[in-house]
Amino acid sequence: MTEVKLVCVSCPVGCELTVVLEGKEVVSVTGNRCPRGEEYARAEAVEPMRVLMTLVRVEDGRDRVVSVKTDRPIPLRLFPQAMDRVRELSVKAPVRIGTVIEKDFLSTDANLVTTRTAH
Ligand code: SF4
Repeated sequence: MTEVKLVCVSCPVGCELTVVLEGKEVVSVTGNRCPRGEEYARAEAVEPMRVLMTLVRVEDGRDRVVSVKTDRPIPLRLFPQAMDRVRELSVKAPVRIGTVIEKDFLSTDANLVTTRTAH
């Protein structure tokens, strides 16, 4: 069995959680003050998810890059592969905020969207 310590980020209280794992199975979660903490701990211990925020190259524009993010969290383990894909991408200026750069990014159901306008 392994024990993982986490801080719940689901609300500002920041409960300190302890997750006990048997292999990849969650045996117990303690330290949470509400069910959201257990849900967070189970997800975080087995498959951590994060929103990817990065920059994509802009072609033929005044701006050289535009900020982008996934519109939902994707598995953290995919971040190296995600950055490889992002380096291959570019958009033509102008591009408006909220433009989908790539749908179903890395087959995660998340879209990669611009978070500002670039000219
Ligand atoms: S366990 Fe509940 S109360 Fe504690 S930080 Fe998470 S959401 Fe907030």
